[in-house]
Amino acid sequence: MESKGSILLKLLLLLQYLSLLCAAQDFDFFYFVQQWPGSYCDTEKSCCYPTSGKPDADFGIHGLWPNYNDGSYPSNCDPNNPFNPSQISDLTSSLQSNWPTLACPSGDGITFWSHEWNKHGTCSESLLKQHDYFEAALSLRQKANLLQALKTAGIEPSGGSYSLSSIKGAIKDAIGYTPFIECNVDSSGNSQLYQVYLCVNTSASDFIECPVFPGGKCGSDIQFPSF
Ligand code: 5GP
Ligand code: 5GP
Repeated sequence: MESKGSILLKLLLLLQYLSLLCAAQDFDFFYFVQQWPGSYCDTEKSCCYPTSGKPDADFGIHGLWPNYNDGSYPSNCDPNNPFNPSQISDLTSSLQSNWPTLACPSGDGITFWSHEWNKHGTCSESLLKQHDYFEAALSLRQKANLLQALKTAGIEPSGGSYSLSSIKGAIKDAIGYTPFIECNVDSSGNSQLYQVYLCVNTSASDFIECPVFPGGKCGSDIQFPSF
């Protein structure tokens, strides 16, 4: 016969195990991705300015993406929690300046933010509700001023070419962490600086060294077009 005490102990252990299961991370870190508007717009496909007007000549947010350490990532995690603009109405004007949409046809941003929430944001909803998620992205944007980092190192968006290592070095010097640089090609086929990835801890509060980098390659020298 088991004593009451030992049954109670087992029950307590089971409860502890179940609560750990519930709190288990459903991802390992975030990529915080910013896009250079000049490189989104000078491609074959071109772009459309948002209905609120031409964005500043500055990096804009693309997304905050939950990721696994093995390089894979979850997506579209909760169809029952779709994007709801009324939950972030106080953030709209800040989102319009810092997370502008450049896709065609011109939009007010809702389609872009909705896509990002539904595809990526729902995968971190256990830690960040909709408002927290967008607020966290905006706060990371304030902490990572990429254009200033590059300009400080003499790297300017005026159509010139720079070594990939000088771009990474400038960002590392200013932000403290090594970024991943994604390139695309302009309408003449030149490789250019398109997106910058920084890694962020699971509470979306601080940058970290990337556990893994995405795939893809730039040339050793890439262009930095104007916008
Ligand atoms: P592309 O295939 O153009 O690189 O990426 C298309 C989309 O897939 C991205 O905008 C993003 O939504 C998602 N994606 C691509 N690579 C990654 C990645 O490494 N991690 C995460 N979380 N999403 C990614
Ligand atoms: P992802 O690549 O994050 O999966 O998807 C991006 C989606 O958002 C695409 O459907 C794209 O058309 C739309 N989108 C709207 N505005 C923008 C923008 O400014 N940049 C990018 N990369 N995608 C945008």
